[in-house]
Amino acid sequence: MAKKKACETCGTKDKTVETMLDPMTTALYPEDTDHDEMTLCPPCATARFEES
Ligand SMILES: [Zn+2]
Repeated sequence: MAKKKACETCGTKDKTVETMLDPMTTALYPEDTDHDEMTLCPPCATARFEES
């Protein structure tokens, strides 16, 4: 079974925490392909997206 990941913003460990491309830079620069990967829970991913 896959180990649960920890959100790098709030530290939550849950199966909903995912490694994804940085939601903020992908929102700001959708054409770029060199976004950082971040491990985030859905609320933090949404919060980061809304900061952009
Ligand atoms: Zn989080």
